[in-house]
Amino acid sequence: MPSKLSQEIAPFFVMDVLERAKEIEARGNSVIHFEIGEPDLPTPTLICAAAIESLKCGDTKYTPSLGIPELREAISEDYKSTYGVDISPSRIVVTMGSSPALFLAMASLLDPGDEVIITDPHYACYPQIIKIAGGVAKPVRIYEEEGFQIDIKRIRRAISKNTKAIIINSPSNPTGVVLEPQIMREISDLGLYVISDEIYHGLVYEGEARTIYEFSDKAFMINGFSKLYSMTGWRLGYFIAPEDFIRPIQKLQQNLFISPNSFVQRAGISALKASKTEVKEMVKIFAKRRKRIIEGLRELGFKVNSEPKGAFYVFVNAKRLGDNSYDLAFDILERAHVAITPGIDFGYGGEGYLRFSYATSIESIGEGIERLKAYISKKGV
Ligand code: PMP
Repeated sequence: MPSKLSQEIAPFFVMDVLERAKEIEARGNSVIHFEIGEPDLPTPTLICAAAIESLKCGDTKYTPSLGIPELREAISEDYKSTYGVDISPSRIVVTMGSSPALFLAMASLLDPGDEVIITDPHYACYPQIIKIAGGVAKPVRIYEEEGFQIDIKRIRRAISKNTKAIIINSPSNPTGVVLEPQIMREISDLGLYVISDEIYHGLVYEGEARTIYEFSDKAFMINGFSKLYSMTGWRLGYFIAPEDFIRPIQKLQQNLFISPNSFVQRAGISALKASKTEVKEMVKIFAKRRKRIIEGLRELGFKVNSEPKGAFYVFVNAKRLGDNSYDLAFDILERAHVAITPGIDFGYGGEGYLRFSYATSIESIGEGIERLKAYISKKGV
C-alpha cells in the first residue's frame, strides 16, 4: 500500500487539463493554451551557450552541496544591484528549481504540527509541500474586492501558539498581484518567519516588487530561473536563509539531492551576468500580451477590477458561467478547445475563478478570446 501521506496529497489539476489538451491535440485539433505557467519563449542564447561551453569543459560532476561559489556570489551581487540589500553568499543555497528550495526551507524550519499561514487562493503546491515537511497549512482568505491584497487583521486572527511562519508570493501565482510594501512591512512585524516566494520578480509591468529583505532578516527568500529567464526545464533555483539555518539545510541537501546540476549552474551565472538585455525584451513581450488579454477578457464580459501588475496570470471571476471551476474548465476545453486552469487548483478561495496564463503568443491570445466569445454566446449568458 502506498503511504497515507502519498495518498492524501492533492493532484495538481492544471496537469489534468494539460494532459486532456494534449489528447485533443493528438486527434489533430488545435488547442489554445492559457493553462500553462511556463514561458513559451526560448531560453536566451547566451545562457544556452554557457551550458554548452561548460559541458565541453567537462563540467559534469557533483558540485559543492550548497552550489558553486561563483553562482552564489553572482546571486549576492544581483540582490545588491537590484534591491540594494547585502546578502552574504554564505546564506545562499542553490537548488534544482525553486520547488526543492521551498521544500528545504520548510523542512529546515518546521517541527511536526507547526502551522504555516498561506493565502487562499495560493500557489497550488504550498499546502502539499508544508504537509510533506510535517507542518500544517493555515489558509487565510484574500478577496478580489480587496485587490487580492493581504488583510493583516485576518492574518493576526489566524495566528495560534503553533504558528511558525507565513508564506507570501509577490508577484503572485495565481492572481498576478504585487503586494503593497506597507503590507510586507506589517507581515514582517508579526515576528513570524516569512517565507517570501519571489520567483516572479522581474516580471512586473507596473510599479515594483520589493524583496522581503528590505523589511526583515527573519526570512527565507525563494527564487529561481524558471520564469524570468525562461528556464523551466533546466531545473535551477536558489534560496536565502538566516545564517544559523545554513548548516542544517546543507545536511538536508547532501542527503536528499547531493548537489545541484553542475553545468546548469554555469548557465545560471550567464543568466545573471550576461542576459539582462534579452530578458528585458522578453518582459516587453509579456507586457504587450498582458494588455491584450485583459482587453480580451473585458470584451468577454469578465470584470478585471484590479489589473494584475506582475507574473503572467489573470485570475477572473467566472461564476456566471458555472460555480464549479473544474467542470467549467473541462467544458470549455472540450467544446471550445481552449485550455484554462480551474481556480479550485489554488484553494477553496479560488473556486468559481479561472486562471488565464498569458505565457503564450499574442496571436494565440486573440484566437483564444474569439473561441471563448463563441462558447459564451452559445451558452447564452
Ligand atoms: N513558486 C511559484 C509561485 C510558482 O508558480 C512555481 C512554478 N509554477 C514555483 C514556485 C516552482 O517553480 P520551479 O520549481 O520551476 O522553480
